[in-house]
Amino acid sequence: MPELPEVEVIRRQLADVLPGRQVACCTVTLAKAFRNLTEAVSAPCGEVFTDVRRRGKYLLLDTDKAHTLLVHLRMTGALLYDTTPVERSHVRVRFGLDNGAELAFRDVRTFGSVTVLTAAAAAAYPPLTKLGPEPLGPDWTPAYLYAATRRRTAAIKTVLLNQEIVAGIGNIYADESLFAAGIRPTRPARKLSKVACRRLCESVRHVLEASLAHGGTSFRDYRDSTGARGDNVRYLQVYGRGGAPCRHCGATLAKVRLGGRTTVYCPHCQR
Ligand SMILES: [Zn+2]
Repeated sequence: MPELPEVEVIRRQLADVLPGRQVACCTVTLAKAFRNLTEAVSAPCGEVFTDVRRRGKYLLLDTDKAHTLLVHLRMTGALLYDTTPVERSHVRVRFGLDNGAELAFRDVRTFGSVTVLTAAAAAAYPPLTKLGPEPLGPDWTPAYLYAATRRRTAAIKTVLLNQEIVAGIGNIYADESLFAAGIRPTRPARKLSKVACRRLCESVRHVLEASLAHGGTSFRDYRDSTGARGDNVRYLQVYGRGGAPCRHCGATLAKVRLGGRTTVYCPHCQR
């Protein structure tokens, strides 16, 4: 599932090519993948993209008619920009553009969606307004993390996955950040000291920035807007490596279920 770095890679790529492009036509081949919550059924045909933003794992494509296309890739979604339209399987929504290029929303397992909203409705849309701070932004601080965890009896891993606490982190980067911080995922969040919160806050930032620099993690399905894989899987320390030796100390990595999610950690390096 694409997490913050993967969605940010796509955002940066689309921000280079979409602004100024007009939507010539829109084809929906799976109705549930395209939700139009605005008055205009034909939106966004004829509209010009003005900006490409990201909030957590959401992509927001703004148009000159004050509409926002809110894209969530979920498990297997991809937003592909083809300068020359190509035949692809599992494309659910296509936007033909005025330069002959095509923006295709491809989604094998069909959990993802493109939602058309007025810009005003997007600004007040509960899934967005409830999101916690961006971990690469100024509001993600050791003091914030310390305060946010004081009443949380849940495991710190579970708290990191809570989008209302911090936006954009999923299973990969929760496990990787906790390893980098030397913190065991099962530790109750409220038991973290100020020192541990500082380490974790910084580790989250470093792990996400490193993945961004590597083009994101393509563990299974993730592809960027050009259809290419991210390279970060080579740098993963624990995610997907349960039972393998820790790259730091050689101990066997433990694999447990935590809050319904597979969790991998080093029993020696993480306390
Ligand atoms: Zn270790």
